[in-house]
Amino acid sequence: MANKVLVLGEVREGVLRNVSFEAIAAAKQIADGGEVVGVLLGDSVANLASELIAYGADRVVTVEHPHLKSYTSDGYSQAFLAVCEQEKPEGIIFGHTSLGKDLSPKLASRLSSGLISDVTEIEGSGEGAVYIRPIYSGKAFEKVKVKDGIVFVTIRPNNIKPLEKNASRTGDVASISVDVQNLRTIIKDVVRKATTGVDLSEAKIVVAGGRGVKSAEGFEPLKELANLLGGAVGASRGACDADYCDYSLQIGQTGKVVTPDLYIAAGISGAIQHLAGMSNSKVIVAINKDPEANIFKVADYGIVGDLFEVIPMLIEEFKAL
Ligand code: FAD
Repeated sequence: MANKVLVLGEVREGVLRNVSFEAIAAAKQIADGGEVVGVLLGDSVANLASELIAYGADRVVTVEHPHLKSYTSDGYSQAFLAVCEQEKPEGIIFGHTSLGKDLSPKLASRLSSGLISDVTEIEGSGEGAVYIRPIYSGKAFEKVKVKDGIVFVTIRPNNIKPLEKNASRTGDVASISVDVQNLRTIIKDVVRKATTGVDLSEAKIVVAGGRGVKSAEGFEPLKELANLLGGAVGASRGACDADYCDYSLQIGQTGKVVTPDLYIAAGISGAIQHLAGMSNSKVIVAINKDPEANIFKVADYGIVGDLFEVIPMLIEEFKAL
């Protein structure tokens, strides 16, 4: 069914995001011996093609244009549709990232295909592939099969294992010229917030704080622990609403969805809307003063205690390792 699968290589600040490599692994499974084609869109991205090939893409198609320097749904959809026109894919895979979530429904509609979004697991391969995705804020899982048309899938970061990188792999790299035009928005300048360290959506370890952290300063020990572990800091909406941290850190139904190997929740009660964004984490450690807090229902390890005592103890222990 999917003899040729396109994978969008998502580039941020000149670097390919990990989910692109996970998408290649998913594409291999769906293509089941068919061809996996990496797609790179940007103003200067051809240099990244070899990395997609090293992670398993059979070849790469690039579209370079000054208007593709920053993401706009208009510009990217024109470029990606031109690739589809040339390649006639039977499958398309994007990361379920902010970009993927914005672009995929627009393209699916233009391609008259369905869309299976936020897939966390694929069972089987080729025509028999079954796509598993959480529904009802992670309370149930839906299994989806595609009967006809393009198999268009977005995959949740950190769930599908990428293939081993092999720099000796080779594959063709070709460019398509697309006259990206009539854009309704043109990005003139991007002013980034000062963020440090690991990208929250792809972090293997997340240390998240809630209203129990009590102030912006209260987040400092959490940041220290996250840095020590090579992880990222996240937050509940309670903490963001209270102005303890930026909304870009919010995890949950209306924030980011994360699936790290380790999620440390400090001073978070565990409201259903928060669980929607983190309950699929592989190991959950909850620190809360209240033994009845809902977060303990999803935690693998629970520490009933004051986070301002427990976090410094954890920092000391990890420093001593
Ligand atoms: P609280 O519920 O106030 O919990 C604070 C916790 O800290 C308590 O359990 C307390 O026991 C503990 N605590 C206090 N002091 C300490 C201490 N010193 N040491 C240890 N523990 C301590 N929420 C999200 O997080 N993400 C979302 O995406 C989201 N989307 C929403 C969408 C909608 C439509 C709605 C209605 C709500 C949404 N919410 C979301 C809000 C959600 O319902 C909760 O209000 C929010 O998650 C509560 O945040 P919290 O757990 O930090 O705060």
